[in-house]
Amino acid sequence: MITLGTASAAPGEMDVGRLEVGESRDGGSVGLPVAVINGASSGKTLYMQAASDGDELNGVGVIQRVVPQLDPADISGAILVVGIVNYHAFQVAQHRNPIDDTKMNRAYPGDERGTSSERIAAATFAAARDADLIVDLHQGSTSRMIDEVRVRCGRHHRMHAKCLRLAKTFGCGYVLDQKGPDGQLARAGPDAGIPTIDPELGGCVGWDEESIEKGVRGVHNVLRGYDFLDGDVELKAQTRARGFDQYGSPVGGLVRFKRDLGERVSAGDVVFEVTNVFGTLKARVTADHDGIFWRARRLPQVASGEYVCSVGIDLDTY
Ligand SMILES: [Zn+2]
Repeated sequence: MITLGTASAAPGEMDVGRLEVGESRDGGSVGLPVAVINGASSGKTLYMQAASDGDELNGVGVIQRVVPQLDPADISGAILVVGIVNYHAFQVAQHRNPIDDTKMNRAYPGDERGTSSERIAAATFAAARDADLIVDLHQGSTSRMIDEVRVRCGRHHRMHAKCLRLAKTFGCGYVLDQKGPDGQLARAGPDAGIPTIDPELGGCVGWDEESIEKGVRGVHNVLRGYDFLDGDVELKAQTRARGFDQYGSPVGGLVRFKRDLGERVSAGDVVFEVTNVFGTLKARVTADHDGIFWRARRLPQVASGEYVCSVGIDLDTY
């Protein structure tokens, strides 16, 4: 029997339920929606979660599609799923947990007697730390961003090669390999000896069909690549960035991009222009280094100093 919260499944069964993480302001219990898929044969355990940031819904779209596609009779091993992690933020379609104004992905591994976010992190990490692999589905919030997979443990970590392998198996085509800030699940997982990736499935308001489909394919690749399901995965070379150049606007006005997401940028190329409302050019911003146009703000209007876009740099393939 495998149990996660109130979901409990014998070999060859699946179940859904709730993982209790405390109480809401009205005194009712708060339970995250969870699923347990217990394969008919033994094997590894995959832990997967979505909506750690409450406005990042593509991962919820992935889980909503993948779970009905899985038949426990065909699976070796177990899959543990938390469908919505940042319960309070999801309710109000915000990025951060409004109870403590914290980003959930800075709260791992959590504290069961801590803040609201730390308690949710602790409850979900308690499930994740029993797994052999962790997939934490994110996206570039509501910005526009390429589909990529992040490895956040840092290149000197003992789990680095295994995390890179998991990212390659997921196979979005792009990988960001850069040590992340403290409190990320993609840091806490490897620290507990578990290969962990943070797929970043585009960026949008609501759902993006293409990004969700890439996520669905990525999860199936992981299931086949780690023997949960029969079949092979053709591992394809991934374009890897080891960091970002982030660009802000030198002036206020309206941004006009000169590159599309995923396009190559050479040092000195114009990345974006800023005009006034009447179309007169105010500034032209050029790339500091070669790279790939990775992420861009959605709204055209900017103040001086405001974030405009990111270029992935220090590139190679692996
Ligand atoms: Zn996120």
